[in-house]
Amino acid sequence: MTTQKIAIVGAGLAGVYAAYRLHGLGLEFELFEARDRLGGRILSTATGGFDLGPTWFWPDCQPRMHALVAELGLPVFQQYEQGDALIERWATERVRREGYRSGNVSMRIQGGTARLVQALAASLPKTRVHLAAVVTGVARVDERVHLSFSDKRIHTADYTHLWLALPPRLGKNLRMVPALSGQEMQQMANVPTWMASHAKYVARYAKPFWREQGLSGDAFSGVGPLAEIHDAGTDQGAALFGFLGMDAARRNGVGASALKALCREQLVRLFGEEAADPLEDFFHDWAADPFTATPDDQVSPGWHGRHELQCAPDAPWSEALRWIGSEAGGEQGGYMEGALAAVDKALDEVTGETGVRRLGSPHC
Ligand SMILES: Cc1cc2nc3c(=O)[nH]c(=O)nc-3n(C[C@H](O)[C@H](O)[C@H](O)COP(=O)(O)OP(=O)(O)OC[C@H]3O[C@@H](n4cnc5c(N)ncnc54)[C@H](O)[C@@H]3O)c2cc1C
Repeated sequence: MTTQKIAIVGAGLAGVYAAYRLHGLGLEFELFEARDRLGGRILSTATGGFDLGPTWFWPDCQPRMHALVAELGLPVFQQYEQGDALIERWATERVRREGYRSGNVSMRIQGGTARLVQALAASLPKTRVHLAAVVTGVARVDERVHLSFSDKRIHTADYTHLWLALPPRLGKNLRMVPALSGQEMQQMANVPTWMASHAKYVARYAKPFWREQGLSGDAFSGVGPLAEIHDAGTDQGAALFGFLGMDAARRNGVGASALKALCREQLVRLFGEEAADPLEDFFHDWAADPFTATPDDQVSPGWHGRHELQCAPDAPWSEALRWIGSEAGGEQGGYMEGALAAVDKALDEVTGETGVRRLGSPHC
């Protein structure tokens, strides 16, 4: 076990969680991340801790997320859902309806989901974590894995294993020696990167004035630009957030600053004049982010289906390579729970133990 050395590519939740577990087990690893920050699709604003990426986990059906936040001692709270919801079918119509509660309780991490990544990364030795390291190729020579980088550095450390913590469509861009089969490449191309086609808007306010009107902050609109809006308040401030309803091509045509203005106008239509002047507002378009989305991710795949990416490829990479990103997470693929599930599966193989972290079969 001590001779294993694992190169992890990608430091979103999957990569950082893998590093945290491997470090805890006393196993050797190095973590390579293209961006100059950790977290990948997890991104919370520096002020307020408002989430521009994932917001919720569902403890009823996501045992790994539930156990991990408890293990890390992260305070959590329930999504604010008290009060009525608003429905906007036409710009001139605002319908108020009794609030709808989803069956599973939606929980959030106090201070934003980025706290989860920060807590996992806190114990990692800084020398093992490499930011701004864009991996462009991987080669397996004499049972050792070598990585190459966009700035032409060659990392010659003797890795025995390669864990790809990337969306498969981005992994497909890596130059692999020996190459994966055509069928495996096609399978990677077929797996959409969950939420990569989306964009999120957050408006921060001095107080949650909608709650004072008996509104939950939930709103659903066929007019837009926001299709679905929710309360985004944290212990650090009041806020509303929404998912943009228009596709990436239309968002590009309008531009970020004009989109923010249109979002503010819509919030005024729905919630009144107090929504006109947020203290600050934020917009992040994941479809325009090259370390998340590819040209194939510009349009939403629609319903969240089961992700069929196999964690282990066929020979000649079958011994050395594992997919550990969320899209390899099987039943919960695409969600944060899926990232943890894919990592746990790879860990079970490395340690030769089964079920150390596998916590039953979730049903959402
Ligand atoms: C707007 C939005 C809302 C969401 N809401 C929820 C939610 O409420 N609940 C939920 O459970 N999930 C949600 N998700 C999904 C959730 O974010 C993902 O399941 C999870 O964050 C994926 O983690 P990951 O580590 O597998 O992948 P990623 O976070 O995508 O990490 C991959 C990492 O690889 C890096 N990388 C890419 N290419 C290279 C390269 N060549 N070399 C080195 N590094 C590279 C990237 O920079 C990135 O850091 C949402 C996602 C988005 C975008």
